[in-house]
Amino acid sequence: MFKIDFHSHNYPDRLAARAMASMTASTGGLLWPVGDGTLSNHLDWLDRDGVERAVMCPIATKPGQFGPILRTALAIREGAMGERARRKIIPLASVHPLDPDLFVHLETVAASGIRGLKLHPYYQNFSLDDPSVFPMFRKIADLGLFVQCHAGLDIGYPDRRDACSPREIAVLLENVPGLTFIAAHLGGCAGFPPHATDRILDLGCYVDTSALAKDWYKDEQMRLLRSWPRDRILFGTDFPWVCCGEAVSWVRSVRAPEDLELLFHGNAERLLGL
Ligand SMILES: [Zn+2]
Repeated sequence: MFKIDFHSHNYPDRLAARAMASMTASTGGLLWPVGDGTLSNHLDWLDRDGVERAVMCPIATKPGQFGPILRTALAIREGAMGERARRKIIPLASVHPLDPDLFVHLETVAASGIRGLKLHPYYQNFSLDDPSVFPMFRKIADLGLFVQCHAGLDIGYPDRRDACSPREIAVLLENVPGLTFIAAHLGGCAGFPPHATDRILDLGCYVDTSALAKDWYKDEQMRLLRSWPRDRILFGTDFPWVCCGEAVSWVRSVRAPEDLELLFHGNAERLLGL
């Protein structure tokens, strides 16, 4: 079955080693990546694990990173980083909420044909329920772009359980109707009360299946993966932190066979306009 990984990361060759080392250190030894963070390594793993395409999720941790991220995305899309990357990698853009040219940059993304943005409230230092970011999200919705956003706990930020938990996502979606929002990590279920995430389902939210392998068989993760409607779940891994092949097996072991076409590629194709 054709598979699209809706949540993955890779970094420019000159930065990958340093980026992976610092993120690994920030987990305090709790997490070890399976890949080395480079594009070529990512492509090798996709081939090895039989995943045809991967949505690449860069994060603008400063306003000035909008340009380099967009240029890399366009270079990949146009084949400047190799035919294999052009075929397999679907790069998203990212904006920083404090970007002085935010609205112009969002229009640039929409005009480029890139369909979505990756955001991460901890790396970008904002909260989804802060009214000052609602205009950004309204503009994103008006432009028909989707948001693929980190949700819930982040192992690199052990003291934080705010900014992007199901509660903040709900406030955002109540204030920005029509926003297509994908909450990563099954909506950030880990560490929140059972069923907290179901509120965002009622608000039209999507989730991706990325979760740390050590959490796969926890009750709430299993309940969410088993019970959310199949047209609202996207297969995602968070590679290079999780092995794509093992993530495929986990999803296959939980969902009924008739749900898998939508989970593995149908929903992604709809959102990406493929
Ligand atoms: Zn991620």
